Parts: sequence; structure tokens; C-alpha cells
Amino acid sequence: MENYDFEKLGLKAGLEIHQQLETNKLFCNCPSILRKDSPIFKVKRKFNPVSGESGKIDEAALHEKQKNLEFIYEVFDTNCLVELDEEPPHKINEEALKICLHICILLNCKILPLTQIMRKTVIDGSNTSGFQRTVLIGYDGFVETSFGKVPIDFIFLEEDSARPGDNSEEENSKVYKLDRLGIPLVEISTGPHLKTPSQIKETALKIGEILRACKVKRGIGTIRQDLNISIKGAERVEIKGFQNPDMMETTVLKEIERQLSCIKKGICKKEVRKANTDGTSSFLRPMPGEARMYPETDLALLKISKEILDEAKKTLPKLSSETKKFLKEQGLNEELIKFITEENRLEDYKYLMNVWNNPKLIANSLCVYPKEISVREKIDLRNVKKTLTLDVLENVFSAIKEGKISENDVKLILTKISRGEKIEDALKKEKIDLKEEINKIIKEKPCLSKNAYMGLLMAKFKGQINGKEIMDELNKIIS
Ligand SMILES: [Zn+2]
Repeated sequence: MENYDFEKLGLKAGLEIHQQLETNKLFCNCPSILRKDSPIFKVKRKFNPVSGESGKIDEAALHEKQKNLEFIYEVFDTNCLVELDEEPPHKINEEALKICLHICILLNCKILPLTQIMRKTVIDGSNTSGFQRTVLIGYDGFVETSFGKVPIDFIFLEEDSARPGDNSEEENSKVYKLDRLGIPLVEISTGPHLKTPSQIKETALKIGEILRACKVKRGIGTIRQDLNISIKGAERVEIKGFQNPDMMETTVLKEIERQLSCIKKGICKKEVRKANTDGTSSFLRPMPGEARMYPETDLALLKISKEILDEAKKTLPKLSSETKKFLKEQGLNEELIKFITEENRLEDYKYLMNVWNNPKLIANSLCVYPKEISVREKIDLRNVKKTLTLDVLENVFSAIKEGKISENDVKLILTKISRGEKIEDALKKEKIDLKEEINKIIKEKPCLSKNAYMGLLMAKFKGQINGKEIMDELNKIIS
């Protein structure tokens, strides 16, 4: 691959990120569940493009019309009449709005106090109504990166489209599943402010980190990233499904290469392309025109009151970089920090720290001991975790506070509880007079090394007294 001078090339790129939120649907109360089973029935519809407000039929819409498609919609028992476009939309989902506000605040956006829900023409049949509802919530924000602030132009809250069905049974027809239709999506646009492939990648990762701190869906297909990209002398191209962070830079370089060769041949077009896994892209359809948006007349203007905004500020989630910084200040090592952030245990950690202030012990009890116990006791890790609930841990740490047990007992007690012992029993310390036991064993087997006594005592009191306690006592008796 060539070494490009991106400034000379006039590289301009913008990201458009779509993230599903972890709530019910945006304009009805149906659950946002993707179904693997069969639909309860199917509906057939024909699509006719209508002109937008400007009176001009969308060029992209015409492109689809040429195909003269019939659409088949698969309906599930988790759908209602709203997804079928047989009932007007309900009031916007308040939880989804709150999460969208979290994202707006974390991306330093200004928030519209009053905003109009719009209909955006959809030409491929992926919406039963022929349009997608979308509402502008935030604008004029930014995200901090190592090369400065990257402007965030717009944040929209919108409904996801229906997803393609497995196969089309008839010629000239397209199958869609209605399970995904209406899942709340947040759309974030950076605008064409990115100037190098590494800036594009870093910005995508930074926005991704912010999204993951919020209540969003996780896993394949829950985030979709598109890239608008152009170089001097070429038309803007949109690359869809620009996902894998490792491939982002390669995709950009290959697109520059492709655009350069188009300029040479004089065949530059505006178009929409699909990102392939090898970093190349392939043609999807022409770029849609401008005649796409008109107001949603079934819904009133959306008011984002001071109360709603204050509530969003009050419940603002912490970013994982902030979490890491906080845990580092608590004196935890990289490994423990990684466990806590990856396993999402920050809140549990903070809660238990209020019971007993020992960062390492708390972090170990949450993230490390369960794994050790699972391996040593041959108990499925999921079962260990199910047993060692926050309540159980709170009880154990309270017992330290009350002087019933010592910090050194924690691992042993958690092991006993994982084996099925009741908490009360596990917390009861066996009345073993360690000093007397040690003297007894020395009398029985005199002149052994300290380690040998340690071994004997460990064998005798395994699971009753922890090793450190035995060693401490031994050190007192044998110098
Ligand atoms: Zn519904």
C-alpha cells in the first residue's frame, strides 16, 4: 500500500454511527428481541415511492422502483399493530430518550428543548410504512481525541428498520422480519471533519467507549458504523457496515486507492458502498437525494424539559476510562482493574467498599476468588458466581467489621459457601487452639523443619484454618 499524503489528497471523512439501545421499542411497548423461531404470520405489501415535500421523487427511490419488488413481512408475537403500520405510533419511549440524552451529554452536545419527530423516506421496504421515524436531539458537540476535539454535528434518536429475512420464496420479492423494526437507535454523525485514517479509527473507538458506558445493546449487529469519505476531485462515497476497528484504516486506504483510480478514469460517482471484511468495498446503490424528510404528523412536538434533562444528568453513567482512573487511584493493579471493568462490577465494588475498606480484598473477592474456587473445587464458574451474590459478600465483609472473622479467612469462607455450606456455618470459626495444636505436633514429631510442620498442620486443618494464620503462629513458636 502506498504512503499517502492525506492533506495533499484532501481526505475528508465523517462517521455515522448507529447504536441500538437496550430498551423496549421506540414508538410502542414491544420488547426489543430478535427472534430465532418462526413468525406467527406473514404480510405482503407492494411499495410505491411517493414524492417528498419538494415534489421530487427520490432518485434512490426510483432505483428501487425499477426492481418492482413485493415485500413480505414476517410478524412475531412480540410485534403489535404499530410495527405493521396499522396503528399510529405511541408516545416516544422515555427510557430510550433518557439514554439518548446520556449520550448527548457525554458527547458535549447542545440539546434541543423542543424538537419535531420526522419521517425519513425509506426505499428498500425495510419499514412497513415506507418511512423511518427520526428525531434530532443533540447537536454541536465534540469528542476529545489525542489530535484534538472532533466535532459531533448531530445526534438523532430513531427507530431501527426491519431486518432481512433468511430467504425470499418468490421471485421479485424481499423478506423482512419485523422483530428488529422499531428498536431505538441513536445515530451519531461527526460530519466531514476527519482527515487521516488513524483519526477515523481513534474517533470511532472513542465514541464506541462512550456508547458502551450507556445502556446500549451489545454484540454483533447492535452497532453499525458508516463512513462518508472523499478526496479532492472525487465525489463523496458512503461505506456501510464499517465495523471492525482493525480493518478501518485498511478500508480507508483501499477506498482512497479506488477513488484515485476513478479520478484517473474520469468515472467518479456518488454512491453507497458496503464494507467487506478484507478492507475493500462493493457497490450497494446510488446516493439518496435530498427529498427525504417530512414531519411526523401523528405525534406532537417533543418537549425536552429541564426536569427530563436534570434527571438525565443525575443518572449519567461513568466512562470506562474514568472508571479505570478511579480504580487505579484506589491502588488496584492493571489485572484487577481489567477484571472489574470487563465484568462490569464497579457498582458492586463501590458498594462493598462501604462495608469494608480494602480495595484489593474486595476486587479479589468479586473477580478472582470465584475463578480460583471454580478451578480448585471443580464447580462451574457460573454456579460459584450465582452462589457468591452481593448479599453473601456483604455478609462476609460485615463479619470482618464485627471482628468475627479476619481478612485472611475470606477466601476460605467463600470456598465453603460455594461448596454449599450455609453462610452462618461458614462464618463460624472452628474453635481450634492453634498454639496448643502446634505444641502437640512438635511433641509428637520433634526436630522437623518449620515447613514440615506447616505441611502437617495444613493437612490436618485443611479447610478450617487458613495457611497464613498457621504460618504466623508457627513463626511465633519456632524462631
Ligand atoms: Zn409493537
